[in-house]
Amino acid sequence: MFKHKWRIARIFGININIDPSWLIIFFLFTWSLGGQFFPMRYPAWPNSLAWTMGLLTSLLVFASVLVHELSHALVARQQGEKVGDITLFLLGGVAQINDEPKKPLREFGMAVVGPLSSFVLAGLFFLVSVFLHRASQPLSAAALTLAVINTGLGVFNLLPGFPMDGGRVLRSILWQATGDMKKATRIASIAGQGIAFLLMALGFLQVLRGVFSGLWLVFIGWFLQSAAAHGYEQVVVRSVLQGVKAKDLMSTTFATVPASLTIQALVDDFILERKDRVFMVMEGDDLRGIVCLEDVKATPRRDWPRSRVRDIMTPKDRLEAVSPETDGRLILASLAAKDINQVPVMEGGRLEGIICRTDVLRYIKLKTELGL
Ligand SMILES: [Zn+2]
Repeated sequence: MFKHKWRIARIFGININIDPSWLIIFFLFTWSLGGQFFPMRYPAWPNSLAWTMGLLTSLLVFASVLVHELSHALVARQQGEKVGDITLFLLGGVAQINDEPKKPLREFGMAVVGPLSSFVLAGLFFLVSVFLHRASQPLSAAALTLAVINTGLGVFNLLPGFPMDGGRVLRSILWQATGDMKKATRIASIAGQGIAFLLMALGFLQVLRGVFSGLWLVFIGWFLQSAAAHGYEQVVVRSVLQGVKAKDLMSTTFATVPASLTIQALVDDFILERKDRVFMVMEGDDLRGIVCLEDVKATPRRDWPRSRVRDIMTPKDRLEAVSPETDGRLILASLAAKDINQVPVMEGGRLEGIICRTDVLRYIKLKTELGL
């Protein structure tokens, strides 16, 4: 959610990060356990004990979430997927797995292992609770609470809406049955949005009845809704760009403009007059950078007469050339990751073309509209 995360550990070669928003949920958990739940359930406990157990239980809840995410990441890695970081944030945890799974069975395994590990943890905590029953009531109570929370986590994650684990399980089954990943994703995403709206409605009802924790459900539902819609988009984009190379996306005609040209002149004389969209920025004989229509659009209009092309271009040293054979999906991902609008296509030291973000987006739009 935030740009800055804290790295707290590295387990099996996977970085574990904490997003600042996680502090909110950690505080809420500690407070509702230590300040509300334990004192109500065990009135004989002194305050300090209730808070200590609240803190310990919260820490172990997040350790449990971490185990859940690690199980996803490790199964994904064992299946040959590239695995990024695990980040704990406001709504739990997320393991960054870079590519969509290639086979339904793999996706099934990767998804189902998360809830499974939550259920295993629930069982273990339950055993600990029974085992410690006589020895220590507080520890036994904390373990029992953890068993219940992990069961809840497992059940919630199994709700059959994409991109939750249960939705991925549903998708893998539909995918296996129909052989069509896009269609399977669409159905699972619709289920995901349905569940999201249901959660929001439930939350609203609770709020109307004066239970303000219902807001939490509304929030989770809202998050899930956008994740479901976004997840489907991603799959569409990936499948549209499947097999598309840089040479299919690039523009091969581009005008040359001086770095000192004002944006107003660029718009008037080149974009409107000559209908060019991509420009090489030169100073004398040297290439200084590239400018696309997007860069112009991102500049406020009142700055056009004063700002110069060199102020808005992507400078040469930030441009990373690709070859004409580079995969279109990689190009889109790298434009997004580096937050730049264009990439030059080079072959043997020669500039073959330029790809702008709009070229890629236009290609996707065209193909989607044609139903390809
Ligand atoms: Zn999961």
